[in-house]
Amino acid sequence: MNTTGNNYQATSVGDIQAKGRATLHNELALTGSEISINELPPGVGVPFLHSHKRNEEIYVVVRGKGRFQVDGDEFEVAEGSVIRVDPAGARCIAAEPQSSLRYICIQTEAKSLVQFTEGDGVILETKPTWRQRASA
Ligand code: ZN
Repeated sequence: MNTTGNNYQATSVGDIQAKGRATLHNELALTGSEISINELPPGVGVPFLHSHKRNEEIYVVVRGKGRFQVDGDEFEVAEGSVIRVDPAGARCIAAEPQSSLRYICIQTEAKSLVQFTEGDGVILETKPTWRQRASA
């Protein structure tokens, strides 16, 4: 599924388990963030620590169990864990020996957000198509 309109791009990342990783920067023509969907097999971790120059990262664990390291700290992560890391943080993520780990990583420029949710969203008068169908 790849669909493009005047104000959107939509894609499917397919079988993440088979691919290991999908980045969405190009597929969605992202302009303010980078998103990757990642799958680490049991016992596998990213083989290096890394930091960033300008971007913070938000990791959202959606399945499995693992360990997360930031600088000298290491802690458990599991489905539902969400971690934000400052650009300077030396980070790494690994799956536990008995569990694969699926997570989404969102990368965006640190301190760039000036408004969010209700501060930025605008509710429009036009009904969404599902409500138009429901009232037909
Ligand atoms: Zn990174």
